[in-house]
Amino acid sequence: MKTKIVATIGPASDSPAILRKMIYAGVDVFRLNFSHGTHDTFRRIIADIHQLNQKLGTHVAILADLQGPKIRIGETGDGGRIFKKGELLIFTVKAENVSPEKILINYANFPNDVRPGETILLDDGKIAMRVEATMPDKGEVVAKALASGVLYSRKGVNLPDTDVSLPSLSEKDKDDLTFILDQQVDWIALSFVRKAADIEELIALMKSYRDKPLLPVIAKIEKPEAVKEIDAIIRVAQGIMVARGDLGVEVPLESVPVIQKRIVQKCIAGAKPVIIATQMMEGMINNPRPTRAEVNDVANSVIDGADALMLSGETSVGIFPVETVTTMKKIIREVELFEDIYDKQHQPEVKKNPHFISDAVIYSGCNLARETNAKAIVSVASTGYSTAKISSYRPKATIFAFADKARTLQRLNLLWGVHPLFFDHYINTDQTIADLMKTLKEANLLQQGDLIVHISNMPINRPGKSNMIKLAQVE
Ligand code: PEP
Repeated sequence: MKTKIVATIGPASDSPAILRKMIYAGVDVFRLNFSHGTHDTFRRIIADIHQLNQKLGTHVAILADLQGPKIRIGETGDGGRIFKKGELLIFTVKAENVSPEKILINYANFPNDVRPGETILLDDGKIAMRVEATMPDKGEVVAKALASGVLYSRKGVNLPDTDVSLPSLSEKDKDDLTFILDQQVDWIALSFVRKAADIEELIALMKSYRDKPLLPVIAKIEKPEAVKEIDAIIRVAQGIMVARGDLGVEVPLESVPVIQKRIVQKCIAGAKPVIIATQMMEGMINNPRPTRAEVNDVANSVIDGADALMLSGETSVGIFPVETVTTMKKIIREVELFEDIYDKQHQPEVKKNPHFISDAVIYSGCNLARETNAKAIVSVASTGYSTAKISSYRPKATIFAFADKARTLQRLNLLWGVHPLFFDHYINTDQTIADLMKTLKEANLLQQGDLIVHISNMPINRPGKSNMIKLAQVE
């Protein structure tokens, strides 16, 4: 299977027994959502995943997802705050002023940033209000309910019309980051990214911890500002997530499908992995079978060319976490029989491109694999740059990426079509190529007579750019 599966862990799946079943069912990456859960729980889950990887010989990756500048209201009491259409509600930024009439919001600059007439969406956009008045001196905003409803405690707030001045990393994010960098985690995601500088800030913060790993960053696209800035964000981030949950609240719902398609195309052209997230198989939170529309959504995301599809509530709180993964895998397998998903053409950039040699070699190697109907493309990964490039051409051949570090192998496991494998006894280029073929044949991953395209750098055991293609036949 080429398209990868990301599963969010939560109370429905955080035991070693369920994690193991989910790996067998086809999970490639586990996501830990730092909007929910404690460090103690995450520490335990991370240790369990590492143990399972060791026992099962798998390279399942761990993606830590930072909450980012999420706006929430405070407590609204047991039955929630009931309101009628047209009623005026008061939001306060001061905890000491909270009362049955005044609802707390965790955004100190709220009264300064919003303007009368702007929209406030609450609870995933289920509740809409309009700003009537702002009182910065009192720290309050008055809003009119556009329909009757109930506002429950700690629900999320989206402000699609407002230039939100919150910093991209909250104090909670910084605290979570310190914890995450001490764990063996492979990818980090940042929520509510607005501009490329948000990613650069996270990278700079990780660099400031000199003795800690620099994790590759996935930018979650869920704000209209990020959609506008997408080219710059793709350039600085190491991966992208189309976070359709909040995106569908922040922009008109009907524009989400085309945004998804455009972002996937841009990520493929930029050789950055892209994850499609949220409500892929939402119905399976409570039901053993998906709806026809959900099957279509999964299938169309595969056809768009996404690297990975993500499950959220389905695997974190749903009744059928393992069955959902099995069903998603079945759909992916069937759709991958469809020829249109392969061989995405994009020319390597020539001008001012420091990777030109390697990009041109990879481009030619992938063309050679297509022309010769090769079974596999084999690469030896150090940073993962070449493997990501190979993957971006969406070749029909399986991409076997060899590396000597568990972390590299796990990072590569998110990438479309990449099958990571451990290898650490490099001798010289000819010998290594022969050894890799032998390893693949002994593991029954290749048969006698299969054609393989090796894309590598010479000397093979030194980190460097790809500068060599070899077409070989398994003996
Ligand atoms: C989303 O909004 O689609 C998303 C993936 O973010 P989260 O699950 O963190 O709300």
